[in-house]
Amino acid sequence: MEICRTINDVRQAVAAKRQKGNRISFVPTMGALHEGHLSLMRLALKDAETVVVSIYVNPTQFGPNEDFDTYPRDLESDIEKCKNEGVEIIFAPSHDEIYTDETYLSIGIHSLNSSMCGASRPGFFEGVLLIVNKLFNIVKPDSAVFGQKDIQQFQIINRMVQEFNHDIKMIMGPIERANDGLALSSRNQYLNEKERQAAPGLYRTLRYIKEQILDGVSTPSLLIKHQESELEAKGLKIDYINVFSMQTLQPEKHVEKGGKYIVAGAVYAGNTRLIDNLLIE
Ligand code: AMP
Repeated sequence: MEICRTINDVRQAVAAKRQKGNRISFVPTMGALHEGHLSLMRLALKDAETVVVSIYVNPTQFGPNEDFDTYPRDLESDIEKCKNEGVEIIFAPSHDEIYTDETYLSIGIHSLNSSMCGASRPGFFEGVLLIVNKLFNIVKPDSAVFGQKDIQQFQIINRMVQEFNHDIKMIMGPIERANDGLALSSRNQYLNEKERQAAPGLYRTLRYIKEQILDGVSTPSLLIKHQESELEAKGLKIDYINVFSMQTLQPEKHVEKGGKYIVAGAVYAGNTRLIDNLLIE
């Protein structure tokens, strides 16, 4: 396995694999790897002979009051995990390799970031698109694997691939969960015992809402209000819980039979923001 620190190095490493005729699949991450990330690497390996994983905590997707400085970093152990999964190339660049001091351009997003996580994290998805666009241009993979866990991120990147003509197949990996249903996340490390106990409440709530919709509830707002109060009683602070259109990512007051929806939520357990979602397709 090659560990590349510079754009030049990773480009050369990828080119050498291409020369052998290998297909390249790419899994971008911010490190602190867990089973969720590893499941994406396994999907990548099904799609291509060579898997490239990037490990980079991207500052442009953190707000001023968010956890960029304290975000968990453990490169040694991440490298070991990638090795065990059969990853051939790791790209772990420094900040200066990725960003220059002066920038004159940015990527704008119309409406796809006005609800869900985009509404509470201004600038977040612009930061995500910027880094993913850079990484796609650096690695130039045939396919890229992202998790359903960050469904809004997946949909926005998917639009970027279509609208900006990246020749990359987008693959979505299912959400890996702990036994009690909590979606795995690098940020789960922040939870104390009480918060960890309350945290799976989000998944249970989303599951209940999905079941009710599949059972025929077409205007879920009252149901959602009630569920929110129950979560708050457990000590979770609601950021949002709602049913969104799969395509526009806007909240849906009325749900139609056979429609495609995302039942999604974000809550705070203490200072830790947890997100989760279920699909209705
Ligand atoms: P991150 O390191 O948090 O930026 O995540 C890197 C990739 O892993 C993203 O595509 C995430 O959607 C994905 N991911 C994070 N958590 C999970 C999970 N529990 N199951 C599957 N994929 C995940």
